[in-house]
Amino acid sequence: MLIKGIQKVTLLDYPGKIACTIFTGGCNFRCPFCQNASLVTHIDDDQILEDDFWQFLEERKGKLDAVCISGGEPCLQKDLKSFIKRIKDMGYLVKLDTNGYMPLVLQDLLTDHLLDYVAMDVKNTKEKYEMTAGVKVDLEKIEKSIDLLKNSLIEHEFRTTIVKDFHTKDDVKAIAKWLYPSRLYLQQFKDSIDVIQKGLTEPSKEELVEMQKEAQQENSQVYLRGI
Ligand code: SF4
Repeated sequence: MLIKGIQKVTLLDYPGKIACTIFTGGCNFRCPFCQNASLVTHIDDDQILEDDFWQFLEERKGKLDAVCISGGEPCLQKDLKSFIKRIKDMGYLVKLDTNGYMPLVLQDLLTDHLLDYVAMDVKNTKEKYEMTAGVKVDLEKIEKSIDLLKNSLIEHEFRTTIVKDFHTKDDVKAIAKWLYPSRLYLQQFKDSIDVIQKGLTEPSKEELVEMQKEAQQENSQVYLRGI
C-alpha cells in the first residue's frame, strides 16, 4: 500500500465513529478542484511505512472504532483487499472513500463483506462528468458503481463537491435524481494551495442552501456537509 498520510483521529470521516484516516497515493482522475493535488500527482514523495501503520493500529485497539481509507484513489492499490482484511481481522470497521471508477474492485470487496461503509464521489451530471473529472470517462463504470451501492445493504453515501464553475442548481437537481433513493451530501469547494487548478470559485453557504432545496424536490435525502 502506498500510504501518503494519516490522520490519527477523526470524528468526522466515519459517521458516528471514532476513526483514523489514511490517504493513499495516486488517482485515475484529475478533478480540477481536487484539494489533495499532492497525493494525486507527487506519488513518489515520502510515504508512511506500512509496518508503522500496523503498529499504530495495534496501539489504538479499543480507542478507535474504524479505519477510513481515502486518497487519491484507494482502489488503484493492488493489495487493497489483503490490506483491508488485515484491518478487519484486528477488529476495526472499514470505510472506503472512492471515485467509483473501478467497479470490479468495489464489487469484489462488497461481495466478500470487507466494507462497512462506502462514500463515493459523484462528480457531476452524466453530461458534465468528463469536464469535472478532468479525464476521459467511461460512464458505464460510474453507473455500475452507483448501482452496486444502491443495491447493497451496507451503509453508503454519495457526495458531490460543489464548485461554482462546474455546478448549477439544475445540475445538482439532476445528480440528486440520478442517485435517488440514496443519500447525497453536497460539500463546499474550498480553495487552497493544494488544488489542481487555481482560481476556481467557492459557492456561498446561501447558494448551497438554495441548491439543496431544489435538489430535495428530487431526493429528500440531500444534505449539506462542512458549512
Ligand atoms: S478529487 Fe478527483 S483527482 Fe482528487 S483524489 Fe478525488 S477523484 Fe482523484
